[in-house]
Amino acid sequence: MSETATINKETRGFQSEVKQLLHLMINSLYSNKEIFLRELISNASDASDKLRFQALSNPDLYQGDVDLGVRLSFDETTSTLTVSDNGIGMSRDDVIEHLGTIAKSGTAEFFSKLSAEQSKDSQLIGQFGVGFYSAFIVAKAVTVRTRSALSSSSGVQWHSLGEGEYTIEDVNKKSRGTDIILHMREEGKEFLNEWRLREVIGKYSDHIGIPVFVMTKVKDEKGKETEETKWEQINKAKALWTRNKSDLKAEEYQEFYKHVSHDFADPLIWSHNRVEGKNDYISLLYIPAKAPWDMMNRDRKSGLKLYVQRVFIMDDADQLLPSYLRFVRGLVDSNDLPLNVSREILQDNKVTQSLRSACTKRVLSMLENLAKSNTEKYQIFWKEFGLVMKEGPAEDFANKEKISGLLRFTSTQVDSSDQTVSLSAYIERMKEDQEKIYYLTADSYAAAKNSPHLEQFYAKGIEVILMVDRIDEWLMNYLTEFNGKKFQSITKAGLDLSKFEDKEKEEKQKETEEEFRSVIDRTKEYLGDRVKEVRTTFKLLTTPAVVVTDDFEMGTQMAKLLEASGQDVPKVKYIFEINPKNELVKRMADEADEEVFGRWVEVLFGQAMLTERGSVEDPSQFLSAINKLLAEVE
Ligand code: ADP
Ligand code: MG
Repeated sequence: MSETATINKETRGFQSEVKQLLHLMINSLYSNKEIFLRELISNASDASDKLRFQALSNPDLYQGDVDLGVRLSFDETTSTLTVSDNGIGMSRDDVIEHLGTIAKSGTAEFFSKLSAEQSKDSQLIGQFGVGFYSAFIVAKAVTVRTRSALSSSSGVQWHSLGEGEYTIEDVNKKSRGTDIILHMREEGKEFLNEWRLREVIGKYSDHIGIPVFVMTKVKDEKGKETEETKWEQINKAKALWTRNKSDLKAEEYQEFYKHVSHDFADPLIWSHNRVEGKNDYISLLYIPAKAPWDMMNRDRKSGLKLYVQRVFIMDDADQLLPSYLRFVRGLVDSNDLPLNVSREILQDNKVTQSLRSACTKRVLSMLENLAKSNTEKYQIFWKEFGLVMKEGPAEDFANKEKISGLLRFTSTQVDSSDQTVSLSAYIERMKEDQEKIYYLTADSYAAAKNSPHLEQFYAKGIEVILMVDRIDEWLMNYLTEFNGKKFQSITKAGLDLSKFEDKEKEEKQKETEEEFRSVIDRTKEYLGDRVKEVRTTFKLLTTPAVVVTDDFEMGTQMAKLLEASGQDVPKVKYIFEINPKNELVKRMADEADEEVFGRWVEVLFGQAMLTERGSVEDPSQFLSAINKLLAEVE
């Protein structure tokens, strides 16, 4: 490392998010300090993958050194640990971009969430992926010397105390790649020890595809250490996915997951498969245990890592899975794709298509098995990823039935907002002559559970699925039947429960309906075109009236969803249904004065709208009707 006079030296401030990250990380990850080695070795391995990929089209990039590897050495007298690689390296711009900022979009929101929930910081921050900056858990200062294989510059040096700023200057580094030099704090000195390093690397980096070396002292014939040193390889350096399933332990899969996913926690489940024949590939697919902090962010990069014949090609190959499975991590290693494959080529390529459909099937059946074998774990999955899975039926027509089987809801049968009811479980519990799957969509669990539409279902002991996620109404546009059973919204006018009534009762209802006709006509007269229709209903028990929509009309939740997204939505025209057996309705029916009658209609209609939409169209008209009625009370 020949030093020349410092050129082009400047001091720059970290992006404020980096400062926050550094601060939180040092305080919350302290008990887990050894992970810095995993992160640095993982970066070195990524850098080697990138070099190998670039060299496919430009072998000169190897500059005579094709033996890619990571080298760790330490010096007790200076208290430094150095992690070196001969990978792709970084240019000055790369360094400023990657070691001074956090590029992930939504980072600012993420940090604002962190301060609000202090106690969970260490978990959350791990989820964020601390990466390079984790060096500061053990180091009081970090120096990075790097030379890019892709630029003509002879190298740059970055140096920081991990506080507000860093310096960057041009230096002379002999060969391409990156040296990360950690100036250890007192608490980091345990890593200036060959055995400690071997232990940590064995735990975290055995699965890395390139060799990891530690500098060791050569021993003389008597087994005594000499001053001479040599590099000793201490990992297997065989890419994990190419090994036999039967030789791999759960911990190895778990550690590999952390490398590919940049996640901190163990995965929930995984599936490792080697397929030969028409398609020739290996896939290793993981379901995380926690949703990433930015899962709902549309710009979020997602997808699997793609390898071709063991060579890393790209991260986030989103062509390999449909978007509703964007939470799946892992990789596909194909023997059928060309090495020079690009995102554009991937886009519409026969091989990609069959890989995509195979990976999708693999994930779905992995989830099916989990649902069958471990309800508790499946529930964890559903809590984290249920919302995304609900995008499935719309996106993936071919697998609609399978996805539907994986959906979970709450229902009138379970006394909790937890979504635990599968459609199959619902069908098993259906009444003898029940043909349809009844469901109700609402704004919240409380609103759903107390909906007047449910009265007759509670009374008749018929289960109703309660859908309270915003996406549900939209989902129901794509979910029309399951296992041959049609879905029926219970707030739609087409609902007919007469088959659950006895004949005698039906006759009586016909009579009441006749008697009630004039009330209906007067109500219609009063409301005019504010409603689509006015009807008598026998579906209600204690509630005086409700509004419903026609089968083919847009439901309330859907309309709200579209309105919230800023779209022009035609006004929903409701059908007003009145319960003739209700006491208030009876008083209204007895009212001869048309003006007072109108006030009653106003109040009952307003109430029905409040229950359905959470709002009335003209609050002052509604309140004035109430007040006038109240004023008449003696
Ligand atoms: P991540 O690995 O998740 O991208 P890191 O914080 O670990 O995040 O690293 C940030 C970036 O810095 C990497 O994406 C890479 O571009 C660059 N980088 C880090 N270490 C190295 C290295 N040894 N060689 C080349 N580039 C590196
Ligand atoms: Mg990293």
